[in-house]
Amino acid sequence: MYTKEEIVKSVPQTGFVGQPKGLFPLFFTEFWERFSYYGMRAILIFYMYYAVKDGGLGLDRSQANIIMSIYGSLIYMSGIIGGWIADRIIGTQKSVFYGGILIMIGHIALALPGGAMSLYASMFFIIIGTGLLKPNVSAVVGDLYADNDPRRDSGFSIFYMGINMGAFLSPLLVGWTEQKWGFHAGFAVSAVGMFIGLVVFVLSKKNLGLAGSQPTNPMNEQEKKKAAINFSIGGAVVLVLGIIAYTTGNASIENFSLLITTLGVLIPTVFMIYMYRSPKTTEVEKSRLLAYVPLFISAVMFWAIAEQSATTLATFVDTRTDLTLGNFEIPPSWFQSLNPLFIIALAPLFALLWTKWGERGPSTPKKFAFALIFAGASFIIMMIPSLITDGETLVSPLWVVFSFFLVVLGELLLSPVGLSATTKLAPAAFAGQTMALWFLASSAASAINAQLVRIYEVISETAYFGVLGALSVLLGIVILFLTPKISKAMRGIK
Ligand code: GLU
Ligand code: ASP
Repeated sequence: MYTKEEIVKSVPQTGFVGQPKGLFPLFFTEFWERFSYYGMRAILIFYMYYAVKDGGLGLDRSQANIIMSIYGSLIYMSGIIGGWIADRIIGTQKSVFYGGILIMIGHIALALPGGAMSLYASMFFIIIGTGLLKPNVSAVVGDLYADNDPRRDSGFSIFYMGINMGAFLSPLLVGWTEQKWGFHAGFAVSAVGMFIGLVVFVLSKKNLGLAGSQPTNPMNEQEKKKAAINFSIGGAVVLVLGIIAYTTGNASIENFSLLITTLGVLIPTVFMIYMYRSPKTTEVEKSRLLAYVPLFISAVMFWAIAEQSATTLATFVDTRTDLTLGNFEIPPSWFQSLNPLFIIALAPLFALLWTKWGERGPSTPKKFAFALIFAGASFIIMMIPSLITDGETLVSPLWVVFSFFLVVLGELLLSPVGLSATTKLAPAAFAGQTMALWFLASSAASAINAQLVRIYEVISETAYFGVLGALSVLLGIVILFLTPKISKAMRGIK
């Protein structure tokens, strides 16, 4: 086993914008991975509900929204498995590589005209692949720096910019390709993106040195046997349940969504209870864990709204807004570039603000509270255009642009601090799983969305946006009131 010092020493400590050279492969691999993911997602919803004659699968809109949400949930849920595989079997470097291969296969499946079967196969590959790649590639970023290296935070910020640059470019490119040559061509662009990411990773991973080259907590033979037995039993149970559901006529998307919603909420709950009761968790850590609960719930509420930019709001853009600009029809998928564009534009401003305010800046719980208020406002604002349209009159898409802008103000308060808060508040014995724990908030959010989007189709849009928006603002206010209590329970963590 290498020590932290040996690992840091093995990484060339300069060579990439003032950061360790190891950041280069991580930055570009994640750039291309997010490129492929967000590009695919920008057209996937339309692919599902567009009529067959328009190149789509002809599913109904509600089902398409449910599938998008289930997918969004599993993408982040699988991080627990990916983190575990890296930690205990193959190490993070290999996990990133194999994850990338699976993701590429997933996009290729969609690039082929295989109908719904291709879609499900693609989802399977991309879920497992992302579970292997996403949490692990972010974990290696942390491994590049010595514990007291002041460049660590800016390293993560640069990495975060890479994510959003990928997420910004791909909806434009994938969306444009889709408009010109159809959906499968669009998905092919995602596949090519992931391929480029893999090539960059393989060619430049020598700069990672020893970082992520070994599992941090490898299994012994006995543990391997036990894990194999448990996996086989788990797999068999899932298979039997699937067969029962299928033969009894219960294998519907709606029922599956109920299962995912339950799991999405249950997994983080059980995980937190497990950490709390673990004998390895100290008294101080218990208090910090309790402080983490309201922050986690806030993150779930926040992501539930933010993730709807690719579901309900994408549907709104497509069906309710007037996208003609002179002779040009703006592809609805392009709107997915707005969130990352705003992030890229505003992140430096926020960073500057925090530096300027220093100690006087808002605490983590306060930032979370304001994030909820912005997210809530982004939905409340949508009540206006949804009141104006009656299904026939189209409204200006600028409403959605403004709504996305408000979400981003919240995202910048919550997303970059969320992970670091998780690392600091989770008990030390579970440090290896903190990345996965943070992504479980996004997973739970989409799991809950799988039910919310069903409601979207049956109640008025105005009521839907109003109630959810108000709920988020309300929770934000509650957190604001609880801030002194939460801060105290954080025991010295800011
Ligand atoms: N949009 C960010 C990413 O893709 C955050 C994802 C999340 O935590 O839900 O990395
Ligand atoms: N802002 C998201 C993230 O940080 C990207 C997106 O929603 O397109 O990656």
